[in-house]
Amino acid sequence: MAKILVTGGAGYIGSHTTLALVERGHDVVVVDNLSRGHAHNVDPKRLWRIHLTDTDALVRLMRAEKVDAVIHFAAYIAVGESTREPELYFSNNVGGSLALLTAMQQAGVKRLVFSSTAAVYGMPERVPITEDMPFAPVSPYGDSKVMVERILGWLDQYRDLRSISLRYFNACGADPQGRLGEEHNPETHLIPLLLKAIETGVPMTVFGDDYDTPDGTCIRDYIHVSDLAEAHICALESLLNGGPSDAFNVGTGAGYSVLEVIRAVEEVTGRKVPYEIGPRRPGDAAVLVANADKLRTVLGWRPQYSDLRTIIETAWEFEKKRIAKGQ
Ligand code: UDP
Repeated sequence: MAKILVTGGAGYIGSHTTLALVERGHDVVVVDNLSRGHAHNVDPKRLWRIHLTDTDALVRLMRAEKVDAVIHFAAYIAVGESTREPELYFSNNVGGSLALLTAMQQAGVKRLVFSSTAAVYGMPERVPITEDMPFAPVSPYGDSKVMVERILGWLDQYRDLRSISLRYFNACGADPQGRLGEEHNPETHLIPLLLKAIETGVPMTVFGDDYDTPDGTCIRDYIHVSDLAEAHICALESLLNGGPSDAFNVGTGAGYSVLEVIRAVEEVTGRKVPYEIGPRRPGDAAVLVANADKLRTVLGWRPQYSDLRTIIETAWEFEKKRIAKGQ
């Protein structure tokens, strides 16, 4: 059992990972300023409302709690917003990470799992994407993650900080026991938007049907959030066992088009999805699919929930609860 500090543990992936860590017997403290996360996602006993730039408070907390390792989720995640407010993204995602890393150095904490993204690859020349393909981000969001990955490379070399960067493909779904789910505000992700379109009757817009794919819509690699959480545990335990710094894709290797996801949502819910075809969204690659072999072979990760049906079933169960609660 280890003591783990989770930044951004009140957010979507952070809260699912915190749950998985606790179930695995680890002891967890969450640092979240609740700027985008939700207090109801975290046991109040473990929540510290601290900003990452408050180095003194972070150092004190890490020392008092004898933290063994950090899992760092706290960041802004919306690609579109990052193109409108790049300063905000660099200051929060890069500046916040650097402040956290400085606090870790001062407190002598030498293990970190970092939330990275498939957006570090931009518009890749080929799919499936392997980890050795070059960084080529096409948004401030993607570049903010590249910058942190690069900083981690230097800190591995000069500070003996061992870190694993996990490059997520399309995180989705909800805790299979219904305790947590996806609650972004505003929501920009495909599956929750499809469920909301069913609920409200307001058509969602498919961003382009003229891509070079079989049905013309974009293809993505959808990964269940609980399998993502499990990837963090594999990475963490590797570092705690003395494993080296590295980077891994987290996806399934299977791609689904937007229209295929719509059809799957209709099958699971038994309802029609109202939608219309709109223009392309700037910055969208036609196909983003991971080669996730490295995570399976090196860290022994085994996804359990990432078939599209389970993803949608768990997301739909959570959405129905939210509707019932009037949220
Ligand atoms: N998408 C869409 N309409 C929407 C939101 C998303 O057609 O309102 C498409 C988007 O173009 C992409 C896929 O759904 O091909 C997944 O988008 P999402 O924003 O969920 O994740 P991203 O791929 O940007 O990480």
